[in-house]
Amino acid sequence: MECVFCKIINKEIPVEFLYEDELVAAFKDIKPIVPVHILIIPKEHLESIADLEDKHEALAGRLVMVAKELAVKLGIAAKGYKLLFRVGRDGGQEVPHIHLHLLGGGKMSENIRIV
Ligand code: AMP
Repeated sequence: MECVFCKIINKEIPVEFLYEDELVAAFKDIKPIVPVHILIIPKEHLESIADLEDKHEALAGRLVMVAKELAVKLGIAAKGYKLLFRVGRDGGQEVPHIHLHLLGGGKMSENIRIV
């Protein structure tokens, strides 16, 4: 299996999970672009948001709800944060396994990365 995020889910790459349940897991981005930079990913290998089907509605909701809860837990909710899905090549997506970026802990430029 080549997918780096599947390897993280399968514990082949050791990563501390900030959250885990039957559908999703969350961990720190290896190259944070802001003080708090978390990735929330589905356990199922799905390349991008474009691959979601009706049956994934609960999963899609869970990604957002976990991001919201982690923002509170990590102390960034009051000041605000950014949630970001990159989708496909033109969206700037580099890892082909759905991931929701939770970005906070500092004021963000809109130009962190051109997408
Ligand atoms: P994207 O450009 O939206 O596909 O974002 C992929 C993100 O995954 C980047 O922010 C990377 O820093 C992050 N990333 C890649 N490999 C790892 C890893 N092994 N552990 C944590 N984050 C990673």
